Amino acid sequence: MADLRLARRAAGLSTVFPGSHFPSELDDGVIAFDSGFAAPDLLPDLTPFAEIALNAHRGETLQYSAGQGQPLLRDWIADLMNRDGCTLTAQNLLIVNGAKNGLDLISRLLLDEGDAIVVTAPMYFTAIPIFGVYGVEFIEIGQDEAGIRVDELEATLARRAAEGLTAPKLIYNVADFHNPSGVTMPLARRRALIELAARNHIAIVEDTPYRRVRFEGEAVPSLKALDTHGVVLHVGTFSKLVAPGLRMGWIAADPAIIARLIRLKAEGGSSALIQRILYEFGRSPAFDAHVARVRDAYRQRRDRMLASLDRELPEIRVQVPDGGYYLWLTLPVHVDGDRLAADAEAAGINLIAGSRFFAGATTGNRAPPRNHVRLSYSFADPDTIEAGIVRLAEVYRAMTAR
Ligand code: PMP
Repeated sequence: MADLRLARRAAGLSTVFPGSHFPSELDDGVIAFDSGFAAPDLLPDLTPFAEIALNAHRGETLQYSAGQGQPLLRDWIADLMNRDGCTLTAQNLLIVNGAKNGLDLISRLLLDEGDAIVVTAPMYFTAIPIFGVYGVEFIEIGQDEAGIRVDELEATLARRAAEGLTAPKLIYNVADFHNPSGVTMPLARRRALIELAARNHIAIVEDTPYRRVRFEGEAVPSLKALDTHGVVLHVGTFSKLVAPGLRMGWIAADPAIIARLIRLKAEGGSSALIQRILYEFGRSPAFDAHVARVRDAYRQRRDRMLASLDRELPEIRVQVPDGGYYLWLTLPVHVDGDRLAADAEAAGINLIAGSRFFAGATTGNRAPPRNHVRLSYSFADPDTIEAGIVRLAEVYRAMTAR
């Protein structure tokens, strides 16, 4: 290879191509509890909306589009969020290519090399390299049954200030059905987090892919809905509600933030075609029916997985989530989640070792706990979920007997 001089942010990146775990490429009989893929039978039929988009709106959908995103879709999203307690207009919104694109753009807006950011321990592991490539230091804060520990964060900020260290720039958090822990923050903890962030001029990045995938109980107001200071940058996505292949999401923030983000999102704007398809689907009666179906189906899958685990592996502790896609399992302390993930994969069950959800594992902050794994119930159908847990229990028994 030519001896090219790479940017600092790229020089340390692996030259090994990322492995693929796409369910369509799995060998027969392999069960995917690892990914956040949608259940195949829940992917909506978008054909009629695509036809409208490509025929009645061809002049719009096959042209360049507004960098901020199409006004009609932004109006519709503002309305969706306002019915959920926010007070937004289309000016508060930027359409992005899914939540991960949103996180990357926010990183470009806020982060310089050497900055610190606050994350939960554990955290959504795909976000680790998104932030990491900007050369940040991760400050890991623990969670309890109410989510990120604001008291621990406050103490950490005070300690850092006393040591002359800079304050973190942002707090990354998933307040509803946290990935992977499953925890949903109650109102008081949300308020405390926002007040702490506002006092310290720290942005909160609220990542909300699962907010509308709620199975039971009342929704707690989003951080964005509670934010009277303008510190919350809210990231939404259609991946979990409609389909991940659309690659469509949004950022909701103050207009002065959105205006800058539009300039950083310099790739030419998100697809006008997909935005129109989503808009036509969203304003049709099919949308609410689809959301109801998604909730029911994932609730059933969650319950099937919980019941199977309870029967097959009663010694494993499970955080029961009120929504979302995942179960976070706590194994007995001496049981190694990395080993279990490797043995399970060898037996045709893909799941993810808990240690991968700790940013400290990549930065060397501290050793992550090893006694967790994350299971996803979103992709496999209920009978396959049951069969998979039976097989996982066999792997577990064989491993712990050794
Ligand atoms: N954030 C979290 C917390 C997620 O769990 C996921 C999906 N697994 C995403 C973001 C990714 O969303 P998108 O497909 O919109 O990039």
